Formats: sequence, structure tokens, C-alpha cells
Amino acid sequence: MSVESRKIRLVMDLRNAGVTDTKVLAAIERVPREQFVEEAFLDQAYANQALPINCGQTISQPLVVGLMTQALEISDRQKVLEVGTGSGYQAAILSKLARRVYTVERHRDLLVEAERRFTALGLHNITTMVGDGYKGWPAQAPFERILVTAAARIVPPDLVAQLSDEGGIMVIPVGDGSGQSQEVIRVRKDGKRFESERLFPVRFVPLVQGVPDARA
Ligand code: SAH
Repeated sequence: MSVESRKIRLVMDLRNAGVTDTKVLAAIERVPREQFVEEAFLDQAYANQALPINCGQTISQPLVVGLMTQALEISDRQKVLEVGTGSGYQAAILSKLARRVYTVERHRDLLVEAERRFTALGLHNITTMVGDGYKGWPAQAPFERILVTAAARIVPPDLVAQLSDEGGIMVIPVGDGSGQSQEVIRVRKDGKRFESERLFPVRFVPLVQGVPDARA
């Protein structure tokens, strides 16, 4: 089967599994996932599964990318923060839907590869930073939308503080780092009021505080 027909089948599967937002489905169609996976997994680029990437991390399952992106309710006027760039795939999807994407990754090696992909694909509305996303990106705050793609034990207070208080939405997996019992939570912020909902179970690598020693 060709890459194009595998991709079309994946998009149909995602729609059947609950990704019904046509803008999100179009973004998934427009981003070549095969350019974000390791060469050894090229033939699985359009399988609905997470795959290993460098630094012991993973590129998320397409269904999870679709559902989390849909849950963010993004419009093209908004500024989005992503924590956990990884391969850059989720940031590329966000870049098709938002005005600007800020993405933070603690592993420099992953970020260098992701940046190369953004340039090759002409995705010019993504800004990257090596850092501890647990602390967010204070210099660029507030963000209308925040997406965390690693599991946090608690919703990081700095991220809540950096979420716009005029209808800001954050989507974040919360639970223990072993991958057991994690759930995606959606936080809505209006003025000083918060509302949080539990959306669906997931399995993410843990959100780790601090940045690895560059010499390690
Ligand atoms: N969104 C990615 C998947 C990310 S896997 C993609 O589309 O491919 C989770 C990523 O979060 C990993 O790359 C991990 O290094 C990163 N991460 C974990 N804790 C972090 C932190 N505190 N700050 C920034 N990145 C973090």
C-alpha cells in the first residue's frame, strides 16, 4: 500500500475513533508523519501507534494526537505552548491550526532534529527552546492554549499561571510516571476561575523536571 493510501486509511480510522473536527483531520493529512519517525520505523509511520524516538522518548499515537489537539479547540488567531517537543510531530500539527507555536524540550538532541524537520517542511510559525517545560515559557506568556505531551503528577502551577485568563485552555496528561493510570485533563481558565474535566486514559512518558546535564 502506498504512503498516501495508508495515510487516508489512518485519517478514516481516527474519524471513526472520535476525531471529528475537520480542521484537525486536515492538519493530520497535511503533516508527513513519515518525516518524524526513525528510519527503522518508516513502514509504521501511518500505523495508529506510538513509536520510539531518540533519548528513550516516543512520538505519540496518532489517535492521541488527534484527540488532544481536538480537545484544545484551537483557532488560527491563537498562541499555543507545547511542552515536550519530542520528534516535533505534534508541534507541526499545531502549527497548521494556530497563529504561533512555542515548543519546549529538555533534550537538546531531540530539539535539533525537530528544528531541522520544521525548516525542511517550511513551518515558520514554530519557535523552539531547550528548557524545563514544567516552568513553561514566562517570557512569551500568556498563552491562549497549552498542550503538555508528557505525564505530570500534578498540573504544574507555572503553566496554570501562564494560561490566558480569558478562556484559556490547557490539555495535559496527569498521573504517575510508570504509565499506569494516566488521564488527559482539560483545564479551562476564566478570570480567576478554573474548571477541569477528565477526558480519556492515556500512557505518556513522564514529565521530568530540570534539563539533562549537557556533558552527560
Ligand atoms: N510531542 C512529542 C511527543 C513527546 S514525548 C511528539 O510529537 O513527538 C515527551 C517529550 O517530553 C520527550 O521528548 C521528553 O524529553 C519531553 N519532556 C519531558 N519532561 C519535560 C520537561 N520538563 N520539559 C520539556 N520537555 C520535557
